[in-house]
Order: sequence, then structure tokens, then C-alpha cells
Amino acid sequence: MTQTITVIRGDGIGPEIMDATLHVLDAMKLGLAYEEADAGLVALEKHGDLLPQATLDSISRNKVALKSPLTTPVGGGFSSINVQLRRHFDLYANVRPATSFPNTRSRFTEGVDIITVRENTEGAYTAEGQETAPDGSWAVSITRNTRKGSERIVRYAFDLARSTGRKKVTVVHKANILKSTSGIFLNAARDVAKEYPDIECNEMIVDNCCMQLVMRPEQFDIIVTTNLFGDIISDLCAGLIGGLGLIPGANIGKDAAIFEAVHGSAPDIAGKGVANPCALLLGAAQMLDHIGMADRATQLRAAIVATLEAKDSLTPDLGGTGTTMSFAKAIAGRVAA
Ligand code: NAD
Repeated sequence: MTQTITVIRGDGIGPEIMDATLHVLDAMKLGLAYEEADAGLVALEKHGDLLPQATLDSISRNKVALKSPLTTPVGGGFSSINVQLRRHFDLYANVRPATSFPNTRSRFTEGVDIITVRENTEGAYTAEGQETAPDGSWAVSITRNTRKGSERIVRYAFDLARSTGRKKVTVVHKANILKSTSGIFLNAARDVAKEYPDIECNEMIVDNCCMQLVMRPEQFDIIVTTNLFGDIISDLCAGLIGGLGLIPGANIGKDAAIFEAVHGSAPDIAGKGVANPCALLLGAAQMLDHIGMADRATQLRAAIVATLEAKDSLTPDLGGTGTTMSFAKAIAGRVAA
């Protein structure tokens, strides 16, 4: 049966990198069908709604979406569309691989191969209970972590280690200070780890983890952590390997999964045709893994690496003079159909 993917072209550079990504996927002759759906500013303009019901219905139906970045308007009471999508579909696992690539402007063009598994639905990132004193003299917010939410993300990380042949999971926390919220996560992680005696598990406090990542990133394999720490750590990992243009993110739930680039809609370069399409292409590779086409995902990643190695049509963020589409065409020329 043909697999249908919900395709969200998004805002800013979104349509440009989506065109590039679909060009490469088409060259691979994967037999996928696409169903276009709107979200973000473009949806607000067309339908008066940042996240129309038709888009939610499309994702519910197809269970898999490939999504370009979305712009959430600042102010006006708009809440993040990405956070809304994660909540609506309970996409609890945010999986962000950071791998060294050749010929990037990076400190580490080899030796980094880290997957950050970030809890995606609770913790300090949810903006729960935001309150500021009328005179601006104090502010509070609520951080809520649950045993169930902690267990399921840690279990996801260990299962991912097993299914991908990885050997080690590092649990990153701040339970020495945040004794309740980070403590519940750490205790759950310790208990879940006992179910996976074949996978090495260590613990690291988040500040030390940041230093270790910069000094000796090769010691990390899979990192599992809470929402806000995962947000920061995965960007740190992006910085290690050459920037946001090279990091994809999978948002995985029980009933749906959304694959994307980690970066935003980059309004500063939108419409210029110079955005690096690699992050969304790598998100598409995660999607192929997810829908049972792991061998095609491997081909796609290999074509990206080969194009970087050949310095063929690289975009300006990678030091080249290529365009989004010329880079995509160079990658498409290296994928076996
Ligand atoms: P951004 O990631 O869009 O841009 C940060 C910097 O990185 C910019 O200089 C940009 O030009 C560069 N950059 C980003 N992607 C690139 C690419 N593929 N190739 C080359 N350079 C690239 O972050 P921002 O400027 O803070 O956010 C802009 C908008 O994106 C905001 O509205 C924000 O809400 C939204 N956003 C969306 C998502 C998402 O949909 N997943 C994620 C982050 C930010």
C-alpha cells in the first residue's frame, strides 16, 4: 500500500527547503504519496488559523508528517504551533541526531555521533503557570514532571539504543538542585535502566554535560534528558557539528510522528534560495527509518555525505556558493533510485 505523507511547507525558507527535499525524495523513487497541509503564517493568511483542523486531520489520517519550519507571530496571544502539535498528538519523544559531516564549518568534522532524546511534553519548557507581578518585581512559572512521562522517554532512549546497535545512554539532569522535578526524572531513569542490562548507562549533571560535550564529545552516544535541557543540549550539539543547517528532529508519539529540521524559518535569508536543505533532508531520512525504509534512509544519508565530501554545490552557510536547489540536485544525483 502506498504510504501517504502529510507535507507542511511552512514559512520563510520552509517552501524552499521542502521543494529541495521533495526533489531528492522523488529522485529516489520511493513510491510515497504527499498530502499538502497548511500551518503557520501561511495558514493564518489563507484560513485565518495558524493550525487549521484540516491539517490536524491530515496528520491523524496519515500518522506521518514532514514539516518545514513555522513562524509563530510574536505577541497577539499566539502560542507556538510546534508546541501545539506536540501536545495535540502527544509527541513525547524529540529525537535529534548530531553527526560529524565532512567540509562543514565546525570544530568537529569527525568523531561526533550523538542522539539527543528530549522529553517533549512536560517540564520547564511548557510555559505552565506563567505569572509576572503587575510591577514586574517577580515572576513565577510551574515546572511539572511526571513519573510516567519520565519513564516513557527513558524507555524510548534505551529501546532506541537497542534497535540501532548503540551501546550507551547518558541520563542528563540537575537533581542535585532541582530535587523534585529533576529528581523524579533521575529516579525513573535509574529504575528503567535496570531493565536494560545490555546497555551501559551513566548519569551526568547538565552543566558538566555541556562542558564535556565541548571538550570530549566522542564519549557520548545517546543522551536522554528533560524538555528544556534537551532543547539547549541539542543546539549545543548542532554547534559542534556545523550549525543548525545539519540537524534534523523527529517528534514521535504513539499514534503520529512529525519530522522536521531543528532550525527555524530564517526570515533573514528567506526567498534568496540559499538555505541549506540538509536538516530537512536528514529529517526525511529519519522519516524513512520510521516507516520501515531504513535502507533507503541510509542511501539518502550517504548521498548527503558524498555531496559534502565533494564540496559539490554547497550553500553559503557551508562555505559554498551553491543554492538550495543546486545543492539538492547534487544530492539527488548521488541517490540510487
Ligand atoms: P532560525 O533557526 O530561523 O535562524 C537562526 C540563524 O540560522 C539565522 O541566521 C538563519 O539564517 C540561520 N539558518 C537557519 N536555518 C538555516 C538553513 N537551513 N540554512 C542556512 N542558514 C540557516 O531562528 P530564529 O531566527 O530565532 O527564528 C525565526 C523564526 O523561526 C521564529 O518565528 C521562530 O519562532 C521560528 N522557529 C520555528 C521552528 C520550527 O518550526 N521548528 C524552530 C525554531 C524557530
